[in-house]
Amino acid sequence: MGGRIKFMKTIYLDNNATTRVAPEVLEEMLPYLSEFYGNPSSMHTFGGQVHRNIEDARSKVAALINADPSEIIFTSCGTESDNTAVMSAVEAYPSKKHIITTRVEHPAVLNFCKHLARKGFRVTFLPVDNLGRLDMDLLLKVLDDDTAVVSVMYANNETGVIFPIEEIGEMLSERKISFHSDAVQAAGKVPVDVTKLPVDMLSISGHKLHAAKGIGALYVRKGSRFNPYIIGGHQERGRRAGTENIASIIGFGKACELAMMNLNHEVEYLSKLRDRLESTLLKSCPDARINGETEHRLPNTTNISFEYVEGEAILLRMDEYGICASSGSACTSGSLEPSHVLRSMGVPFTAIHGSVRFSLSRYNDESEIDKVIEILPPIIKELRTLSPYGKGDTCR
Ligand code: PLP
Repeated sequence: MGGRIKFMKTIYLDNNATTRVAPEVLEEMLPYLSEFYGNPSSMHTFGGQVHRNIEDARSKVAALINADPSEIIFTSCGTESDNTAVMSAVEAYPSKKHIITTRVEHPAVLNFCKHLARKGFRVTFLPVDNLGRLDMDLLLKVLDDDTAVVSVMYANNETGVIFPIEEIGEMLSERKISFHSDAVQAAGKVPVDVTKLPVDMLSISGHKLHAAKGIGALYVRKGSRFNPYIIGGHQERGRRAGTENIASIIGFGKACELAMMNLNHEVEYLSKLRDRLESTLLKSCPDARINGETEHRLPNTTNISFEYVEGEAILLRMDEYGICASSGSACTSGSLEPSHVLRSMGVPFTAIHGSVRFSLSRYNDESEIDKVIEILPPIIKELRTLSPYGKGDTCR
């Protein structure tokens, strides 16, 4: 305590890290944190009402990805959904010991697969090219009769690059292999339709789409083999034990309903804002480049490297103006290593260290983008004159 409170408007461009809870979502959640505290498993009407409302939320979550409500299992977060999916798949094929994933997955999949590798599984981590794209021929080559599961993210959290999930699923059909996709960054930002995607399982997370933190869902296609990861009571029809996080489930349902309602408009709105931010920054700052392919990309995300500057320094300077973003360099990403995604793409060291991810949401507007466009180029220019990389460069 004791620091001076700054009355400064926050310009929040870090929505792939987490999003603001939508006011409509909060409003729906609040009664479940006060008067409707019944346990949905109870026999009495008081609990039964809560049960019905959970089922209503399940239908809304299902609708966002065009699933049947019975195919939705509520979990505690995207990480739990990812761990559950991979674990369930390897347990479904006990004689198989091979897992295929990519080098650019979120740690929720990557580190879980590394954990399984230490337990004796053989894991193939597929590389990506310098635009963050998968080599589909290589995927075909590494598939074998021992492969139990393929887990490939729908969209990358750092670059926004979208993978060809439909194509991969088609490649796997006719084979006895589970296919899981981590759609935590995609759901609510681009159309995700499980009737068109040949996936067995798909992960989503509430806090990436304006619901609360601590709620996620795993889609499990009807008829797919599934083994629960969290074992205990009979909640979620025996597929995920633990008394439900009622308020967050209700809010998640509302958030999915809003996302679905606004999807087409937001795709257009966000890509316009993002493109303006991106193109103006590229014009005003020399030695700046976009990381990742731009054609198949989330509409809200841009990852820009400002060469010869430290990403941390950029973030700290932007923070003085209330601008929030993320960097691919070590300290600010909460790990000891610089971005594994950008390293896998072969982005040069100096560019990784100068990378900044901007991720937008429906709550951003033109005036905020104008502010960033005005403030950032002089910051880059100033930092470059101080740069340890010795490139005292300029920004227009
Ligand atoms: N998968 C991806 C692609 C993510 O971006 C994240 C969070 O950043 C997760 C999984 C983990 O989700 P959660 O924070 O809900 O555990």
